[in-house]
Amino acid sequence: MTTLALNDASLWALVAQTVGVFAVVAILTLWFASVAWVASDVRRRTTDATEQWLGVLAPVVLFIPGVVLYVAMRPPETLEEAQERRWEMEALALQAAATPTCRVCQRRLRDDFIRCPYCGFALGERCNTCDRFNPAEWVVCAYCGSAKKAPVTTRRAVPPNPEPAVAQPVIATHGRVAG
Ligand SMILES: [Zn+2]
Ligand SMILES: [Zn+2]
Repeated sequence: MTTLALNDASLWALVAQTVGVFAVVAILTLWFASVAWVASDVRRRTTDATEQWLGVLAPVVLFIPGVVLYVAMRPPETLEEAQERRWEMEALALQAAATPTCRVCQRRLRDDFIRCPYCGFALGERCNTCDRFNPAEWVVCAYCGSAKKAPVTTRRAVPPNPEPAVAQPVIATHGRVAG
């Protein structure tokens, strides 16, 4: 009877021991896996050695809560994603630089427009001889050499409504010396 009881007790002890060992092995495996996962993930997101070490340290010290903390605080993009976004933005910037904009209202235009469709600004005109687009600044067509009728600059040189002369002394009294 006593031997049976002893055997029972030792059997339970063995079962408990085995379960304990399995639990420890399972926890260690999970711990190791979480550290390995963070280590590989952090290397895809930053090249900074300090950030990499801090990232790996979180699951090493805090285990599962450390992984949660790491996921909350890691850089949102992987290096690959960040590079792709930079390329996309560069491509967009190049595209924007290649597209002409109206110098008055800054809207995008097509390069063959002769007037801004948004504000009416004269961007240029078609050559009377060869019909190609001439920007407003040109006095001569670059393609066929024919002179334009009236350069836009002479029209703008004369202000239609000059400021009254009374305005000058009023401005001069406010601090600065008129010169
Ligand atoms: Zn415009
Ligand atoms: Zn021409």
